[in-house]
Amino acid sequence: MLDYLIIGQGIAGSLLSYELLKNNHNNILVIDKENPKASSMVGTGICNPIVGKYLKKTWMVDDFFSQLVETYQDLEKILATNFLRKIPIYHKYNDIEEQNRIMGFSANAEWQDYINTSPDNTQYQLFVESKLGGWESKNSFQVNGSRFLLAWRKYLIEKQKYKSLNFNENKLVFHQQYIEYKHIKAKKVIFCRGFEDATSNFFKSLPFSLVKGEWLKIKIKDVPQLESIIIQSCFLLPLENQEYIVGSTYHWDNLTEDISINAKEELVEKLERFLKVPYQIIEQKVGIRPATHTRKPFLGKHFTHQNLFIFNGLGTKGFSLAPFFAKQMAKYLISDDINAIQNEARVKYKTKI
Ligand SMILES: Cc1cc2nc3c(=O)[nH]c(=O)nc-3n(C[C@H](O)[C@H](O)[C@H](O)COP(=O)(O)OP(=O)(O)OC[C@H]3O[C@@H](n4cnc5c(N)ncnc54)[C@H](O)[C@@H]3O)c2cc1C
Repeated sequence: MLDYLIIGQGIAGSLLSYELLKNNHNNILVIDKENPKASSMVGTGICNPIVGKYLKKTWMVDDFFSQLVETYQDLEKILATNFLRKIPIYHKYNDIEEQNRIMGFSANAEWQDYINTSPDNTQYQLFVESKLGGWESKNSFQVNGSRFLLAWRKYLIEKQKYKSLNFNENKLVFHQQYIEYKHIKAKKVIFCRGFEDATSNFFKSLPFSLVKGEWLKIKIKDVPQLESIIIQSCFLLPLENQEYIVGSTYHWDNLTEDISINAKEELVEKLERFLKVPYQIIEQKVGIRPATHTRKPFLGKHFTHQNLFIFNGLGTKGFSLAPFFAKQMAKYLISDDINAIQNEARVKYKTKI
């Protein structure tokens, strides 16, 4: 019998399995149906410590960012694969008032690790008209999600801890001490199925607020490859070979996994507000973010089935949040002590089955 059966190998299920293995809980199995449009496969992986025009630090920024660096760097070593990069995010000043405001922030010691008001503006001026120059956010990162997930899957397969399987929750059989799924028995089952848990009979009463996201891949041939992200009306994220991602859209309706012409037009319109060089669109991608009304993740136990758990609700910032909360979720599963999970992230629901 397994100790832990994890359903879903997105960033949530992957990092949870990593934390369990790291704590020597080796009797686990991860199953996944390998949806290429899963949020973690499509997500652009930007980890930005600062949000909004008026500069606000992301919720629990210091805890999340120190944990993400530690976790991803450790995994890079284990997997001998690079998927984390430190990358500045450039914002041009739109007016003098904005410039003064940001300069004011940067003088404050609290912001010195986050803001650089003396970037090299020349590389950006090839892409964006910026008479006043701009500023960069420091300590921002980008995770290549699909590269990490595929490497982690390979690692789990080698350790015989992974199965490619389309899981059907109606086939779960609950016993006093364990749960059975077809021929698999496990003491604890953890749902990490991203947006698909929003329609689960066990967890659909949790306050999910799914958000569809789309992005475009473009090629810009006429100027040297940019080394930083530019954020204006949308973001421009450099990849390799003069390719960039332009993203992303946020839509709460029409939650299908189909790309849309509306999203393409929206992104083109936003990009052309600031990009001053020609480009060519080469691809469009879509995914559904498992976001929540509270903007906080869900970690915890089903209130009737004591062996059934969920780790979900990573929303729009899964790559920054998952390392920190996977650690808490693993501690909780191992100790059965709810205090392992911080209060805002514990499941609070009135599920009826
Ligand atoms: C367009 C877009 C851009 C984004 N950009 C960013 C960004 O820049 N930075 C950031 O931090 N976050 C970003 N996100 C959000 C981030 O991707 C998510 O928060 C995160 O990936 C959620 O991870 P998850 O593991 O909970 O879910 P998922 O990634 O959806 O993983 C769920 C897994 O469960 C599997 N599964 C589902 N149902 C079943 C079943 N029945 N049987 C077996 N397996 C099943 C799926 O195949 C999948 O692998 C973006 C998301 C999108 C869509």
